[in-house]
Amino acid sequence: MFDYTRMERVLSSGSLAHILAGMQTNNTLSNWLAIDRSAIAENLHLLQDLTKTRVMAVIKANGYGHGIVEMARVAFSSGVAFCGVSRLEEAIMLRQAGIEGSIMVLGYTPAYGFDQAFANDISLAIFNLEYVPEIIAAAKRVGRKARIHIKVETGMGRLGAPPEVALELLRLLGHSPEVRLEGIFTHFACADDPSAPATAAQEKIFAEVIRDATAADLRPELVHAANSAATLTRASTHFDMVRIGIAMYGLAPSDAIQLPQGLRPALTWKAQMSMVHSLPQGSGISYGHTYITKNVERIGVVPVGYGDGYRRVDGSEVLVSGRKVPVVGRVCMDEIMIQLDQVPDAKVGDEVVLIGKQGDETIKVKGLADLWGTINYEVICGLSARVPRLYYG
Ligand SMILES: *Cc1c(COP(=O)(O)O)cnc(C)c1O
Repeated sequence: MFDYTRMERVLSSGSLAHILAGMQTNNTLSNWLAIDRSAIAENLHLLQDLTKTRVMAVIKANGYGHGIVEMARVAFSSGVAFCGVSRLEEAIMLRQAGIEGSIMVLGYTPAYGFDQAFANDISLAIFNLEYVPEIIAAAKRVGRKARIHIKVETGMGRLGAPPEVALELLRLLGHSPEVRLEGIFTHFACADDPSAPATAAQEKIFAEVIRDATAADLRPELVHAANSAATLTRASTHFDMVRIGIAMYGLAPSDAIQLPQGLRPALTWKAQMSMVHSLPQGSGISYGHTYITKNVERIGVVPVGYGDGYRRVDGSEVLVSGRKVPVVGRVCMDEIMIQLDQVPDAKVGDEVVLIGKQGDETIKVKGLADLWGTINYEVICGLSARVPRLYYG
């Protein structure tokens, strides 16, 4: 069995945390994530050494599935300058959990969120001229400075102000005593493909904005542009800070980008076998009977399913007793069935690895991503809130 004894149970879901805290032993868990904090810390140290610049640890979407609060703690204790989230509610959650470092909301914040943001000392991305008076009014109301980063649209086709508007925002906000103009930034659309010309084109537009801002004496302290992919492939995009998401979790942004030596994944996904039985030849397995036993077959039941983020795609494999075994039949909401003929001694209570290492075998996030027709990001962000996160290291 998996050794839980040195792990803390830190859970992202309040009600689940309450219920699990009342359980006498972790051995009652169905499936869980074991997350190595020291891997995250070492990845962040390595990335800071490599770039020699400030790092924003991007921990949106529940810390890419790793747990937002714990990732914030590890990131700040590893020396990052900022933690980045996507939404104001994520930032507030961090403040409510007692996180005190600089937090930036990278996405859109509606004006009615300004008071709460500034009162909690949360930095906002702003790209809309209409919001200037609202920003100043909110800062006055709560008696705190508005911490602002101007977002420039340079070719992502998503959020951001065109260059002229960005410069106008700098002029309007840069001279306001209610505002602490902390930064200006943009975001790359194609950095995960180093051969795409779009990144250089975006970088050029952004660099011109920065040049004009500098000439007007309005250059904020923090100019930032690079996500993980740009950080690892284009040093010219580092500016004053890099925004690192996927790489801090030890995963590559795409097949085209090699992670530097030493970065390693932190997350393992495990489950506890709930049933093992022998079924006669011709038995249908799971919804739709898409798998029919060819002989007498040993079938195991594992309490994980698409309700936990294990995708309903045929052909996945898991590890049992250090061997890769196939998932058979449809993935259910709460269960999968696995074929155990190669592991005759498999039994109830055995540890089943869905992501990670067991013996000499490993199932990588990348392997599941390929099989599920998606990217590393979606596999880990899809790990649902009901899966307990256990931390060690
Ligand atoms: C999510 C996000 C990042 C991090 O991207 P990775 O590819 O995970 O490094 C950086 N900047 C912005 C604006 C983002 O939304």
